[in-house]
Amino acid sequence: MPNRKFLCPKCKQSSGVEIVYGYPSESLFEEAERDEVVLGGCTQMEGAPNRQCLGCGRQWPNADMSLD
Ligand SMILES: [Zn+2]
Repeated sequence: MPNRKFLCPKCKQSSGVEIVYGYPSESLFEEAERDEVVLGGCTQMEGAPNRQCLGCGRQWPNADMSLD
């Protein structure tokens, strides 16, 4: 599985990973161990960020995510 990384708007490094909300599965825990995702907790607040930079810790919302 390709390791998806996102460009951080703050430090301009491709160190951003997805913040995954909800109760994590075992495989999701393993991805978090490998710094492929960040676990955001069981509940996602409205407008909560879903990207986090592993370099500087910046969190931001994914602008290209379609709105519900
Ligand atoms: Zn950053």
